[in-house]
Amino acid sequence: MNTQIISISDPAKQTAELARAAEILRAGGLVAFPTETVYGLGGNGTDDGAAKKIYAAKGRPSDNPLIIHIAAPEDADRYAVVNNTYRRLASAFMPGPLTVILPRREIIPRSVTGGLDTVAVRCPSHPVAHALIALAGIPIAAPSANLSGKPSPTCAAHVIADLSGRVDMILDGGDCEIGLESTIVKVEGDDEITLLRPGGITYDALCMVIPNVHIAPAVTHALAENERPLSPGMKYRHYAPSTPVVLLAGDSADVTAFLAAEQAAKKCAILCYNEELSLLRPERLFPVGARDDLAAQAQSLFRLLRQADGEGADVIYAHLPPQTGLGLALYNRMIRAAAHTVKEIRHH
Ligand code: AMP
Ligand code: MG
Repeated sequence: MNTQIISISDPAKQTAELARAAEILRAGGLVAFPTETVYGLGGNGTDDGAAKKIYAAKGRPSDNPLIIHIAAPEDADRYAVVNNTYRRLASAFMPGPLTVILPRREIIPRSVTGGLDTVAVRCPSHPVAHALIALAGIPIAAPSANLSGKPSPTCAAHVIADLSGRVDMILDGGDCEIGLESTIVKVEGDDEITLLRPGGITYDALCMVIPNVHIAPAVTHALAENERPLSPGMKYRHYAPSTPVVLLAGDSADVTAFLAAEQAAKKCAILCYNEELSLLRPERLFPVGARDDLAAQAQSLFRLLRQADGEGADVIYAHLPPQTGLGLALYNRMIRAAAHTVKEIRHH
């Protein structure tokens, strides 16, 4: 398949290009597009055939459901059964990086929801995503636009590397602002939700709007062999580079000393804080941002994991993030990338 790659710098002016992309979607084809979280791989969310193409292009297991992207929060009502909890979340956080799980209406085929009777709905704020969905006039089913098992793509180059030749069109809208996938919550009833995947909308922000916010155990812990995840995506070894990743916890001076010693002993790639650059050998260092700048770390994480994985190192080291604020989303992605391998560094 020949993949068209189109750069969209000004969606308000490039309506002809966006109309072509929308036409591909309406005709059952696949278009990758930028959002504020990561790039999405879009297809018609009411079309069984388009859903099958998405799973095939990504190499994704078909029981891992897709998120439906809509142009306006009110549109959710056509595809899902909404309640006041949804409306409150929508008025606080949409458009934006929040996905809400609701009971599914018949118009959304089971192939899109991985066989579930619920459907995930999100209204992105990115101007290119918004314009594309509005022009298409259909709900757009879109998982992240990476090959299954690779880190999510945060720029068009990642999408091209993974999906060129497998999709009809890739819209290049530059770097994604947040860099981690959307926060996912499941509506449990009035005033009650469960956080299934942390993202740009933090736990604290959700608590300001909804009285009861539970956190699914799989957000921070490995599932036991016999445990069934609330969200099918949680059971897959996600975001995993092929080089083993080890997360380091401990006092910052101790961790830096450990890293310096490791650099002398083996071939390691290091996702370090900017403050550590001058303290380590300038070899295979990937600065993630300042120690306290969680937003910068979120934005750079997937790009740096891809780069570090390309170094042919024995190991990739990174810091264990805090579990507060945006740190919870980083923690959730990084413990998966590391297959839950955390090393405590203690001063001797
Ligand atoms: P992605 O778009 O690649 O970030 O993947 C979407 C993720 O959303 C899936 O891996 C699931 O974990 C989650 N998801 C989508 N639909 C549902 C649903 N109906 N119930 C629970 N989780 C869902
Ligand atoms: Mg994904």
